[in-house]
Amino acid sequence: MSGRFEGKIALITGAGSGIGRGIAMRLASEGARMILVGRTAAKLAETAELMGGIVDCEAADLSSAEANRNVAGQMADRYGHLDILVNCAGIYAAGPSDQIEPTDIEAVLSVNLVGLVDLTRRLVPLLRLGRPSGVVINVSSTLALTPVAGALSYSASKAAVSAVTETLAAEWGPQIRVNTVCPGFVDTPIHRQRGGTPTEVAKFLDQMASRHPMRRIGQPEDVAAAVAYLASDEACWVTGATLVVDGGLRVALR
Ligand code: NAP
Repeated sequence: MSGRFEGKIALITGAGSGIGRGIAMRLASEGARMILVGRTAAKLAETAELMGGIVDCEAADLSSAEANRNVAGQMADRYGHLDILVNCAGIYAAGPSDQIEPTDIEAVLSVNLVGLVDLTRRLVPLLRLGRPSGVVINVSSTLALTPVAGALSYSASKAAVSAVTETLAAEWGPQIRVNTVCPGFVDTPIHRQRGGTPTEVAKFLDQMASRHPMRRIGQPEDVAAAVAYLASDEACWVTGATLVVDGGLRVALR
């Protein structure tokens, strides 16, 4: 693979598993120097090992302002600038909307929205030094565009990420490009939380595959390829955009 990101510094949140891990591996394979951020140090270490081990890891709970301040401080001290920020950390929550408590909504927003904005704004001085522009890519969801029953706080949080992306793109150009990717159903640990026997899980995954016009669920690599495009100089005139990477799920849900 060519080195589109040789000499670039990239910070990926949620890099300890799933889509974030896939993105980290893809950008590293094209030459980026990586900083992996996530809640659990052991998971970040696993990703680092898969990448050959020469990677900086920062364990941080992004719902904490103090943790975000520390991450930004470390970045300023160690690197002095940042070329690519991928905000991939996120949590999912489901349940009937009439039983939702305000604290349930706050818990999802604290990571998916508030944490994302807080870390991003703290990294702006470093991203402004990215050449030809700093790049921010926010990982949202098809459910931001086509909400379904039973995922109120998640869909609301991801819809807010789209609004944030467009606002920041308008404010921060030309120094920083800001874009969103909206994945469909991707095979990652986030779906294991729902539990069930291996047979039940396999049946559920088959059902999900059949709902996508491409007749399969996504893999982290599918999303990573789209993120790599948006992070690259090939996308140098793309900002404020939403790239849907969902095997057609959105048009099937409409
Ligand atoms: P995942 O494997 O569970 O990854 C989520 C990552 O976010 C984990 O590494 C997790 O770290 C990290 N994280 C969660 N809360 C955090 C916090 N407070 N501070 C720091 N890190 C935190 O799930 P995934 O599917 O790859 O999800 C990645 C992103 O894609 C999420 O934003 C998700 O909403 C989005 N997405 C996923 C799908 C899908 O079908 N999988 C579809 C559309 C969008 P720990 O494990 O250490 O807690």
